[in-house]
Amino acid sequence: MLCASHALLANHRPPPGHPEHPHRVTWAGEALEQRFGKGTVSVIDRRATEAELCSVHDPAYIAQLFSVQDDMYLDRETFFSQASLEGIRRAGGICLELMERILAGKEDKTFALIRPPGHHAGYSYGLGYCVINNLALAVKTALQTLRRIAVIDWDVHHGNGTQELFEETDKVFFIDIHQENLFPPKSGGADERGRNVGKGFTLNLPLPPGSGRTQYFDALDAIYPALQSYRPELICVSAGFDAVSGDLEGNMELRPRDFGEMTSRICAWADIFCGGKVFMTLEGGYRVESVSESLSECIAVLRHGKPNLSE
Ligand SMILES: [Zn+2]
Repeated sequence: MLCASHALLANHRPPPGHPEHPHRVTWAGEALEQRFGKGTVSVIDRRATEAELCSVHDPAYIAQLFSVQDDMYLDRETFFSQASLEGIRRAGGICLELMERILAGKEDKTFALIRPPGHHAGYSYGLGYCVINNLALAVKTALQTLRRIAVIDWDVHHGNGTQELFEETDKVFFIDIHQENLFPPKSGGADERGRNVGKGFTLNLPLPPGSGRTQYFDALDAIYPALQSYRPELICVSAGFDAVSGDLEGNMELRPRDFGEMTSRICAWADIFCGGKVFMTLEGGYRVESVSESLSECIAVLRHGKPNLSE
């Protein structure tokens, strides 16, 4: 199992007071090393190239990011600066490297401890703090050799960008559990099922505000038969931790240990379908203490195969 990050992710630094700040990852990384020991978080020293980023995004959009001079906003709340470029290339590079190691059989489970999140970023735009769709970048690489990849997005917001990027293919089965009508507005309804060849390969499971463990595990139960017929060769997870109780943006009631149990469930599916291969990446989560605790429960499962149920 490999969890990876890089200090230069912090070069992407929205103005003070912005919820998406470097501490989300640095504090979580420190918490992991305290719990599991030094070296738990590996450093991966790789930048995604412009060409690699263009495998997912509109070359004109990527060119705009590479040529930025002054601080700017990609939307009302998505900050970007010249310094950000280093951070987002590092985040993409970590995802590519981890995915390549899974594809080469060198790792079976990986967690990309990166920021900013990516799942709202679509083909030609950044949105909702997201600049590059990190998970999609890794999935695109995997599609060079694999034909059936399941993506499970449990971030409290809808992964509109990931859905948009893969809604017209049957090679990616995109499954999203999220708080209904939270963000983006009117995105992620159960009637969004994919398009053209991809019809039937998008599954949205919107949940009402206040949902907790029962509703999330019911949703996971609903996913299983679909995965059983799809038989993915790899499972990828957009792991946001903003469905935790008390998050600054979500209104859900999961506890940190529930994320460990959800990870455990997904790992069990990966054992059945795809030799245990699971690629996970951080998405949202804006209460730093909860991100650290929830991530720690996930990593415990990825390392040892089961959640810590001793409490
Ligand atoms: Zn989110």
